[in-house]
Amino acid sequence: MGAEHSFQERGAKRSRSAMDEPAISLRDVTAGYDGRPTIEAITLEVEEGDFYGIIGPNGGGKSTLLKVILGLIAPMKGAVRIMGLPPEEGRRHIGYLPQYADYDKVYPISVWDVALMGRRSRRGISPWYSSEDRRAAEEALDAVNMLDHRERNIGKLSGGQRQRVFIARALASRPKILLLDEPTASVDPEGQESIFALFSELNKEMTILLVSHDVGMITTHVNKLACINRTIVTHDEPVITPEMLQKGYSCPVDLIAHGDVPHRMLRNH
Ligand code: ADP
Ligand code: MG
Repeated sequence: MGAEHSFQERGAKRSRSAMDEPAISLRDVTAGYDGRPTIEAITLEVEEGDFYGIIGPNGGGKSTLLKVILGLIAPMKGAVRIMGLPPEEGRRHIGYLPQYADYDKVYPISVWDVALMGRRSRRGISPWYSSEDRRAAEEALDAVNMLDHRERNIGKLSGGQRQRVFIARALASRPKILLLDEPTASVDPEGQESIFALFSELNKEMTILLVSHDVGMITTHVNKLACINRTIVTHDEPVITPEMLQKGYSCPVDLIAHGDVPHRMLRNH
């Protein structure tokens, strides 16, 4: 595995002291449901400070990958580490935005309640939210520009506003790493632009791993990009190369349509 070896060496040279661990590391991970693999031989390293994008078609295993990172699905094979810790421990450093489901908007709860929910894992057995919980929820809503809407019912918001509130829920635990599953799938184009601008801002303070079937905006905001469809193609440089497209990994159709531009440069990070 020459390519993998040089990838590791470069990581070591670039930023890592002996004590530092990558934000997220997967080594040869195979995982799935009911004993059948959905993702296979996944090796991935997300370094601290990365804005890492992974694209792939529906059913390609993106959500499964995030659940493996969170320790919600145990791999059949391979190793997962979050900041050097097993997922069950390391996930306290992670804020997670699950893939949006339509039923998320029918709960009759307020913006404020959703943000506070992000504090639940920090609260231990106490049924009450502390003043620290409230402060963290407030900061999170402020960060996504939704604090003025705190009393509103989430069912009454636009798709973009609602997604910001769910992002605030992920931020309320003050994570070091954000995992984002299709964060703009239910958002109109203008809303998407501003949500990606928000991610770039958040990326100054935290590592981000974003998965999406939509190739559009992601390529201009991330500093690293991979393609997943059961197996993964990673690329050390922030470009989409013909190699990534042609290896038979079935990247999404609109990415292939862009494939006549040999090296699609991403925005400088
Ligand atoms: P993506 O997020 O890229 O659309 P998923 O990770 O959701 O892909 O799904 C990958 C594959 O795993 C699909 O074939 C899907 O049907 C299957 N799958 C997802 N969740 C489950 C589950 N809970 N039980 C069984 N199969 C599942
Ligand atoms: Mg998914």
